[in-house]
Amino acid sequence: MKRRVILLGSTGSIGISTIRVAANLPEKIEIVGLAAGSNATKLAEQARETGVRHVAIYDESKAAELSAKLPAGVEVHIGPQGLINLTELVDADIVLIAIVGTAGLHPALAAIEAGKDIAIASKEILVMAGEIITARASAKGVLILPVDSEHNAIFQCLDGHRGPDSEISRLILTASGGPFRTTPAADLWHVTPEMALKHPTWDMGPKISIDSATLFNKGLEMIEARWLFGIDMDRIEAVIHPQSVIHSMVEFTDGSVLAQLSKTDMAFPIQYALTYPARMKGALQPLDFTTISKLEFAPPRLDDFPAINLAREAGNIGGTMPAIFNASNEIAVQRFRNGEIHFPEIWGCVAHCMAEHVTVLNPTLDQIIIADREIRAVAADFIRQSTP
Ligand code: NDP
Repeated sequence: MKRRVILLGSTGSIGISTIRVAANLPEKIEIVGLAAGSNATKLAEQARETGVRHVAIYDESKAAELSAKLPAGVEVHIGPQGLINLTELVDADIVLIAIVGTAGLHPALAAIEAGKDIAIASKEILVMAGEIITARASAKGVLILPVDSEHNAIFQCLDGHRGPDSEISRLILTASGGPFRTTPAADLWHVTPEMALKHPTWDMGPKISIDSATLFNKGLEMIEARWLFGIDMDRIEAVIHPQSVIHSMVEFTDGSVLAQLSKTDMAFPIQYALTYPARMKGALQPLDFTTISKLEFAPPRLDDFPAINLAREAGNIGGTMPAIFNASNEIAVQRFRNGEIHFPEIWGCVAHCMAEHVTVLNPTLDQIIIADREIRAVAADFIRQSTP
């Protein structure tokens, strides 16, 4: 059976890989809708390539340009509501959400309410509102398929597990360690955005590349795993694995560990999410073990890179705190990319915002959205005051 897929965030790194995966499996995957933020030229090009009849663009000022560049007969959905309309109205089996940041939250919820499975790359939305998303998906009986390589790996390791959760002792997320894995702490103050954007093993969009350099990516993933797999934070750990060959592992109570391995290409988890539970040949190349001379592991440098401890604290507190962790990081990353703050001030800003925030437990979606909006202002103020 062919899976009909709506792709949100099509013009980014994950979106482009998803179109490549679909093109390699035309009899199994059909892209039926595309959405992007503001890149009208790329979106129109992708609409021609995939033959979709529906596209959405978030930036309303780009709608006319997009319409002019599209083939005749393609319907354009505009603005934040346009993304929701696309996910609700277009007939599809799965909505893949690869929008950077939290703009994919409402479309994800709309897809669930429309009874569509969701494949999630946008970890930020699970960190912000994971409890609500997973509860709604379970109530509607739709699947949440993880696209993030670590969570897709854990999903694969757990797929054959028929026992209770108490048989799982730990989820172990691997982390490459980023470009500053061995950089002395004092030198982190001299890191530039260009240096932080150069990831040693993965080719990704700018926000996640900076998050990988600070280890905030791993922190976000720990909270993401908490919701995707219903495992408490104390049983979720991160280990540095510079080769990025093992994408994550599950340790069971008998001491056995299952790991998932593949090349460092996001096409692997994307394809598995879109063909699940089937495995297809596609264009993926298997590992050549004769070229892998070693697999190394080390503990993360928690004192020099506090993101993992901050994530554990945010996840343990729960309520609105994970949204604060995420939103303040988003602001700080943007300001670092603009050259307004130093690299270590990213975690300084997040720690400040978490300390300032009064957590609302068991929040509604509106309370989460308000907390997210308010803390972005607190983060911006903090940065203004600390910038000479
Ligand atoms: P990119 O920056 O490469 O792409 C972001 C995409 O989101 C673009 O298509 C962009 O459109 C779109 N977008 C931005 N804002 C909006 C908006 N308001 N409404 C609609 N679309 C919007 O990011 P990545 O592909 O690297 O990452 C996407 C998500 O996937 C992130 O959450 C990231 O953490 C996660 N992820 C990424 C991995 C990777 O290898 N890249 C691995 C695992 C997870 P436009 O081009 O028009 O601005």
